[in-house]
Amino acid sequence: MTDSAREADVIVVGAGPAGSTTAYYLAQAGLDVLLLEKTAFPREKVCGDGLTPRAVKSLIGMGVDIDAPGWIRNKGLRIYGGGVRLELPWPELANYPDFGLVRTRIDFDEILADRAVKAGARLHQRTNVTEPVVDERTGRIKGVIAKQNGEEVTFSAPLVVAADGNSSRLSLAMGLRKREDRPIGVAVRRYYESPRHDDDYLESWLELWDRDDKGDARLLPGYGWVFGVGDGTSNIGLGLLNTSKGFGNTDYRAMLKSWVAGMPEEWGFAEENATGPIRGAALPMGFNRQPHYTRGLLLVGDSGGMINPFNGEGIAYAMESGEYAADVIVQALARPTPAQRERALYDYPRVLKEAYGGYYTVGRLFVKAIGDPRVMKFATTHGLPHPTLMRFTLKLLANLTDPRGGDAMDRIINAMSKLAPAA
Ligand SMILES: Cc1cc2nc3c(=O)[nH]c(=O)nc-3n(C[C@H](O)[C@H](O)[C@H](O)COP(=O)(O)OP(=O)(O)OC[C@H]3O[C@@H](n4cnc5c(N)ncnc54)[C@H](O)[C@@H]3O)c2cc1C
Repeated sequence: MTDSAREADVIVVGAGPAGSTTAYYLAQAGLDVLLLEKTAFPREKVCGDGLTPRAVKSLIGMGVDIDAPGWIRNKGLRIYGGGVRLELPWPELANYPDFGLVRTRIDFDEILADRAVKAGARLHQRTNVTEPVVDERTGRIKGVIAKQNGEEVTFSAPLVVAADGNSSRLSLAMGLRKREDRPIGVAVRRYYESPRHDDDYLESWLELWDRDDKGDARLLPGYGWVFGVGDGTSNIGLGLLNTSKGFGNTDYRAMLKSWVAGMPEEWGFAEENATGPIRGAALPMGFNRQPHYTRGLLLVGDSGGMINPFNGEGIAYAMESGEYAADVIVQALARPTPAQRERALYDYPRVLKEAYGGYYTVGRLFVKAIGDPRVMKFATTHGLPHPTLMRFTLKLLANLTDPRGGDAMDRIINAMSKLAPAA
């Protein structure tokens, strides 16, 4: 590799949704971008594979062909809880489409990385970033060291984006640890062959029941989902937040098995129909790693803990934060002096706080409240039977409102998010 092949305007570490979106928008603006990914596509990523209208909007913005084969659309959210089964269509809004999608991460991430490459980003797969290169005098990051085909390679750029997911070794190496005062979830999922694979609703279970042979039921902690993938399988999973009592001492795999064992037989969620093992991963929420900009390093997606605490959705926020980061970087790099560049870059954490800060604060209060099973029980018993209240709840949980000209529900949610302190 020549020297210039290892230099760029910006290095993006990690080609998940956050990294590929960042690289796409940077390349679109004409910047020279290196996108470094430790795995090789196609590759698995543990996820529910559910995309709300928020994520669909980002996909459309990046020019992804969502009419191509492999995408399955959904009309809304089906909720099970408190003995009730409720179907809520996605809201009709000016700002978002009224449908969601499902696509497994096996090729979802590759499609986004392809968009970045088509825009001009230089993608290096099987390139494991092991440490930052830091300027001793200023403490700023000025590149990264990576392992490529067993060899150490140094890549250089004045700005680096950490898009390396929940564990973000790059952020850690730059001294950015997780905040303990933020919610974090753990979730597991498994694919089963099922006649429900082409479900046109995303399904959310607010209560998980473990039924024994005698028909006695025991309430398990956590929430679950059943998302039809459209390829003959369904993605079934469950998660638990650290605000719940069972967090840390739960056998998630056993819990998933006992939960699906209680489901109707004809759905096919039986051991012999499982197409792979149960796999799990963490969900970092509510800005659990900060600051989002420091010394030449910007954090996007899970590395900055950007999963929505209300519903565990992370792909939309990974993509949106990638676009915000790219915007800020493009403006900053066009400034003539280092001081002016720095001023522009410090706008990134402010932009994020303005977009999500207040909403995430309300989300933190929400997960704290529902961590108490009595509150959850009250909410499912008294909330679910009220259609208007549930339409409001869907908008709140999925963060789907119109910022301008929305209805009364939109105005309440937007006002709450504005009034709550961003932290
Ligand atoms: C069980 C589960 C279910 C979920 N369900 C949903 C859902 O249904 N919908 C939804 O929207 N969100 C869901 N999420 C959250 C979602 O998966 C994440 O928020 C999303 O993947 C974040 O994207 P990202 O690009 O920030 O990080 P990631 O997707 O984690 O991507 C990080 C990338 O960086 C690469 N990388 C890491 N370290 C290095 C390194 N040192 N060098 C080079 N490359 C590196 C990785 O290989 C990876 O490609 C779920 C999460 C879990 C755990």
